[in-house]
Amino acid sequence: MAGGQITIKETGERFLQSHVDGSILRAALRAGIGFPYECSSGGCGSCRFKPVEGDFSDLSLDPGGLSERDKRKGFRLACQSSAVGDVTISVTTRREFEPKHRFNRFAARLTALRDLTPDMREFTFVGPKAAMFLPGQYAILEGPANQTRCYSMSNLPNDQGNWQFIIKRVVTGEFSNWLFGLEIGEALTIDGPVGLAHIVEASQRDVICIAGGSGLAPIISIARALASDPAHAAKQIHIFYGGRTPADLCGEGHLNEFPCWGERLRFHSVVSDQAAADAAGWTGETGFVHESVIRQFGEKVKDHEIYFAGPPPMATALQSALMLEMKVPFEQIHFDRFF
Ligand SMILES: Cc1cc2nc3c(=O)[nH]c(=O)nc-3n(C[C@H](O)[C@H](O)[C@H](O)COP(=O)(O)OP(=O)(O)OC[C@H]3O[C@@H](n4cnc5c(N)ncnc54)[C@H](O)[C@@H]3O)c2cc1C
Repeated sequence: MAGGQITIKETGERFLQSHVDGSILRAALRAGIGFPYECSSGGCGSCRFKPVEGDFSDLSLDPGGLSERDKRKGFRLACQSSAVGDVTISVTTRREFEPKHRFNRFAARLTALRDLTPDMREFTFVGPKAAMFLPGQYAILEGPANQTRCYSMSNLPNDQGNWQFIIKRVVTGEFSNWLFGLEIGEALTIDGPVGLAHIVEASQRDVICIAGGSGLAPIISIARALASDPAHAAKQIHIFYGGRTPADLCGEGHLNEFPCWGERLRFHSVVSDQAAADAAGWTGETGFVHESVIRQFGEKVKDHEIYFAGPPPMATALQSALMLEMKVPFEQIHFDRFF
């Protein structure tokens, strides 16, 4: 039976993993521990730890986040491992990873659906309590057969308990196809919030938000917060959204009702498939979304707080363009890779 008491060798911190926690990482975050992590999906490798004592079970067979060297050295990923009885592990915890809001698991009911493009749909769920999260964070959704996937919230924290997501249907995707089959009134379990690529309240810099494909949701949430909170009223906000074809573009309709729309809140849509752009008579920007950002801002990109989200290839291209080529300081860049 999965679960047990987990002790961190370095600090002596102890926490329990119950059978509903799913993974050691989720149990640690629920206990308020500053366990290092990023994607909670096995892809990034940030939550790797070294077993010291006890038995562990695998939640997935070969998570991409562990290199061959890590595997040889016996490392495991906390998001893909479960304790089997009491265990001791070795990992460096840090304050910055401690959850800012209580990490809660609760049943939520689907109350609204809205199609945004042929394969992107907005889902609204209502939970039993106020929805407390930081714009840019994500939640872990549970489906049939103990399957879980991460989805970012697109709305703002609210007292009504609404959790909104923008989800792309992946052609052969198991979980996204299951979600697209849900009907109004049906329920699922949400565990959250989690995620470190959230809005930085203290920054005074203007903001560039960049999303590709399914990465729209956290960017919309961050833009909504920046556009509506008087504390950010002096900031210019540029949203870049990249889709393959003009039919894949959406998002403007979520933001164009803010009074600052077109003044300090600007939306730039970019199409990457030139042939599709020509066929649709698209007269806007074409190319990859990161190229468009650099074309527009050049050296000035360094003066901005930058948020981005989307598929790993887009994230890699942006990391390379921003960090290596443009030398944007790391602490101004906040991103989630959608493994
Ligand atoms: C931090 C984060 C935020 C995200 N936010 C969004 C969002 O806002 N909108 C959006 O559309 N997508 C988002 N995603 C992607 C999303 O989580 C799914 O990967 C996507 O919906 C495809 O899932 P699928 O099951 O349909 O596809 P599949 O191809 O069936 O699965 C996708 C991936 O899930 C992994 N996987 C397979 N089985 C399991 C399992 N049993 N347990 C855990 N993982 C497994 C595999 O690595 C596989 O590559 C986000 C991902 C991350 C990491």
